[in-house]
Amino acid sequence: MSTELSVVIPAYNEEENIEPLADEIVKVLQGKQYEIIFIDDGSTDSTTERVIALNKKNKNIHLIQFRKNFGQTAAMDAGFKHAKGKIVIPMDADMQNDPADIPRMLSELQNHDAVVGWRKNRADGFFKKFFSKIANFFRKRLTGEKIHDSGCTLRVIRKEALNGLDLYGEMHRFIPSLLMWKGFDVGEVIVRHRPRHSGKTKYNFKRLLKGFLDILVIKFWTKYSTRPIHLFGGLGLFFSFLGVAMGIYLVALKVLTGASLANRPLLLLAVLLVVLGTQFVLFGFMADILVKTHYKGQTSYSIKRTL
Ligand code: UDP
Ligand code: MG
Repeated sequence: MSTELSVVIPAYNEEENIEPLADEIVKVLQGKQYEIIFIDDGSTDSTTERVIALNKKNKNIHLIQFRKNFGQTAAMDAGFKHAKGKIVIPMDADMQNDPADIPRMLSELQNHDAVVGWRKNRADGFFKKFFSKIANFFRKRLTGEKIHDSGCTLRVIRKEALNGLDLYGEMHRFIPSLLMWKGFDVGEVIVRHRPRHSGKTKYNFKRLLKGFLDILVIKFWTKYSTRPIHLFGGLGLFFSFLGVAMGIYLVALKVLTGASLANRPLLLLAVLLVVLGTQFVLFGFMADILVKTHYKGQTSYSIKRTL
């Protein structure tokens, strides 16, 4: 029988959590055709050995072992690409997500292409929650989407929604945004969140700054990835226009009143704006060429069905 569900779990130094988590998941998914894929992201503890031991007892439990620590996003990407199930379920290895939420998410999935968790009562420290609130606020403002919690790893996603989704950097936090951008319907379910009992958290406050830059990338990518010239060309034309207008004003001043222009900072600004504007337009052309190469052999759209 074909696999129904693929649970994908990136794990970096989570030796204490592997067995209890696998136990929980196996109980919840009993009677279903499932596989559990642990991706050992270059752990230096016995994470891999624990998964191998589990695999000896339960052939539905698999291991992908990275050569070194490539990061949670890379681990998730590897898991997605190996997943055989029609529905893919990423989650954390640290037991903060509760597998008992999966059945509710699956039934909600009947109306959507993906359902993401919302950790309404997060069991994390004050700072982590605080920074996460700020990040989610900026994301919602900038992208205009309504998903409350983009950082919750527990999600259920139809496999076809993941096709062609290449994750890099720390983009796993923006999977809901990327899916919606491709036209997939993303729902939301409130999930439990538990404190971490074993192992350490791998992230700190530096993530906020990086996260903010990531949000800008997402905003740019989802809005302008097929037409960068509109952004750069638009800015370029605007700057050039301002510069030219200032130039005309200065020339008129010179002709009409005979004023000297040599000591006018405005002249400098006018020249700067024209040069900057031209650069922006040219940059837009370059970006357009890059996009054409990027989309070679791959479409910029996603088809739901053909009749
Ligand atoms: N993780 C990983 N590679 C990394 C960092 C983290 O695979 O380089 C895994 C980690 O083992 C855990 C999940 O990603 O399963 C989330 O990490 P963590 O719990 O430290 O993040 P937090 O919940 O504190 O935001
Ligand atoms: Mg955690």
